[in-house]
Amino acid sequence: MHELSVTKSILDILLKHAASNDVSRIINVHLKIGELSDLEGEWIQRYFDYLSKGTVAQGAVIKIKKAPVQFTCDKCFTVFSIDIKKVEEIHCVKCGSAECTLKTGMEYYVEDMEVC
Ligand SMILES: [Zn+2]
Repeated sequence: MHELSVTKSILDILLKHAASNDVSRIINVHLKIGELSDLEGEWIQRYFDYLSKGTVAQGAVIKIKKAPVQFTCDKCFTVFSIDIKKVEEIHCVKCGSAECTLKTGMEYYVEDMEVC
């Protein structure tokens, strides 16, 4: 369960941003999470509610978007995204090589936030 530390670092980013932009309240937070990440949105919101008490982010709603999984082909360097739930083996869409490197899919970041 690493949602707690992730949520803490997300909140830190938000509060820092809020402080330097004179934000009085954060309403919505748009979070992007890679499709391969095992982060659970429900837990992030729960930890967020707990950690943000007494801050400008208290009561903010976390909206999560899944970021697609992308691979880079080691041979022809084509970047392609795949639906990880549908494919069992990864092959380059251009040359068919199975030697591909994960580019994105595990990351998480704050895409946007709505404030007032
Ligand atoms: Zn290729």
